[in-house]
Formats: sequence, C-alpha cells, structure tokens
Amino acid sequence: MRIEKVWAELYRIPVHREMHDAIRHFSKMDMVFVHVKTDDGLLGSGFTYSIIPLGASEVCSIVNGGMGELIHGMDPRNHEQVWSRVWRQVDWVGRGGIAILAVAAIDIAIWDLKSKAANMPLYKLLGGARTRVPVYNTDGGWLNHSIEQLVEEAERIVAAGFRGTKIKVGKEDPSEDVERIAAVRKVLGPNRTLMVDANERFTAAEAIRRARMWEPWNLFWFEEPLPAEDVLGHANLRAHTSVPIALGESLFNRFQFRDYIASGGASIVQPDVCRCGGITEWLKIAHMADCHNMQVSPHFVMELHLPLAAAIPNSLFVEYIPSLDPVLTEPLKMVEGCFVPSEEPGLGIPFDWDRLRSFKVNHEN
Ligand SMILES: [Mg+2]
Repeated sequence: MRIEKVWAELYRIPVHREMHDAIRHFSKMDMVFVHVKTDDGLLGSGFTYSIIPLGASEVCSIVNGGMGELIHGMDPRNHEQVWSRVWRQVDWVGRGGIAILAVAAIDIAIWDLKSKAANMPLYKLLGGARTRVPVYNTDGGWLNHSIEQLVEEAERIVAAGFRGTKIKVGKEDPSEDVERIAAVRKVLGPNRTLMVDANERFTAAEAIRRARMWEPWNLFWFEEPLPAEDVLGHANLRAHTSVPIALGESLFNRFQFRDYIASGGASIVQPDVCRCGGITEWLKIAHMADCHNMQVSPHFVMELHLPLAAAIPNSLFVEYIPSLDPVLTEPLKMVEGCFVPSEEPGLGIPFDWDRLRSFKVNHEN
C-alpha cells in the first residue's frame, strides 16, 4: 500500500453561538481537511482547525505546496516513518503553529486510513482501555455571559446529566470572578465537577492571588492560568495553591509537555490532537503523562478525542462544545454522562460531506 495523492481543503463553518473568553472571541471556525489516497483506492481524511480567521489557508498552502508530496510513495501503515519525514522537514519554518497544524491533519488522515485498512475501530486499534468516556460541559460559562445566564446554563447542564461544567474566568474585577464561581457552584451542588479557564490571561502573582480566593469552591482544575510559554510561572503557581493546574491546548509537541511535567508546572495535561502534531504525538504525550501518574483531559474536538480518550487508561473526560454539529449527520449522544466511541473503522466521525461542501472556501483567493 502506497500513498498516491495528498491534498488539503478549507471549510469555514458557522458556530452555534458567539463565544468570548479572556483573550479572544470566535464566531466562525475554519477547518482544514487533509485527504490521503493510496494506490489501492483507500482514502483517509484528517483535519485541523483555527477558531480565529487566520492561519487556516496557510495550513492548506503548506500541505498543497509541498508537504503532501513529501509522503508520496510511503506506506501509510508506517505512521512513525510518515510522521518523522514531515516533522524533520518543517524545522526550517518552525515546528509550532501553522506547520504543526498541517502535520497534525496529515497524521490524523494516516490514522483514519490505518484504522480502515485494519478494519478496526480507532479506539480499539490505539489501545481500547474503555468503552465509554465521561463528558464535562463547556457550552456555557463564557465570559460575555451574565451571571444570570451562567446560572441558567448550569441548571440546564445539570438537568441534561453532565458530570460537570467549566466556566471562563478573567474579569477585570476579581470579585466578579468569585461571584460567578460561587453562583455556579451553588447550582451544581457539592459533588459535581467545576473547572475554571483563564485562557492565559494572568501573571503568576495575579493567578496565585485569584486561585487562593477560589479555593473554598472546590475547583477541579484551574486551566491555562498564564501564557503557555511561562513554564516556571506555572510551577510557581502550582506550588502556591491546592487547585490543580490544567493546560496543554497551546502546546505543540511532546517536548513542551515533557518540560511542563518535569518542572512541576501541570497537574493535568490537555493535549489537542489537531494542534499537537496528530494522533501519533498525542499518544506519546498521553502515555508520558501516565508514566508520571497524571491524567489527560483533551481540549475541544470531542468527536475525535472520544476514541483517543477511550484508548488510554489515564483519561478523565472529553469536553462538550458542539461546534462540529452543523457538519455532522448525527451528533454524539450522551449515555449516563458519558459518550460511547464508534465501532466503525476510521475516525468514527459521521461528517456530512454535502453540508461541508456548502462551507468550502477557495483558499487560493
Ligand atoms: Mg481552555
């Protein structure tokens, strides 16, 4: 089996609502699909995304302008060989950001192919540690929502059977964050999980001050408190609060995760398969965390993280944000607070390709 053709396409899909966190807002999502076709007619499709209107067409260009050709003639079942070929070549243009998003989309397409070629569902092919994964909800709690909205959303989330929810923090006035956390905790009761997410908003000193103010509300984690580059700041914060520190959506490879784990800057890691180099790299990060008795709770893209979280023994949750619903034939259904991975070979995501085609962008323009 040899790779014959590789190409990328850009789709701009509407999101179900306008969302704000502490540093940005998003109203559309760009998805870049990479398709890999073999000489015996198998097709694998992977994807990456951008929640801001920047970068996705460059990801397409880097794949169509040469990265795809690098793997022509290779056997897609040798995923390590394919991954290394592309990774080694991108060092000149930088191994973070746009280049690694492209590597991720290619690698995910390779695993779609591998799973189809093996005629085995992805979660089983990757390890099959469990057949259901708990879900927490981030489809509420946005920073632009009022406290009344937050309470309403939390009530709806509890009624729908979610195990927990996450809200955004980072209000200018620290007492506002406290008020919002207290209001949501009251709805959740003492036993459901509550997380907060600052999207890299704070300095270490401010994050320590705020985390200590929040300690009475039994937070399950404090997500992305500081800029992702500040490894030592995270270690300092973690040493000064009992709230566990979660991060990883803004890290792009296993070495960055290793540095965080080794320096004590993270309690829970949250690799995003579409940003950290694909499934091959995601698995290494997840297993490295396991070697440190640490759990993994992947960021966003619940449809693709579901089989990955089901494959490993140390996953916590997948994150409920239904952003892909407009391009699926059937959204994921929750059973007793959990999602069940697909038994179909491939990624197991029921994309509606007719619908997707209506959102296609000619990225050359
Ligand atoms: Mg986050």
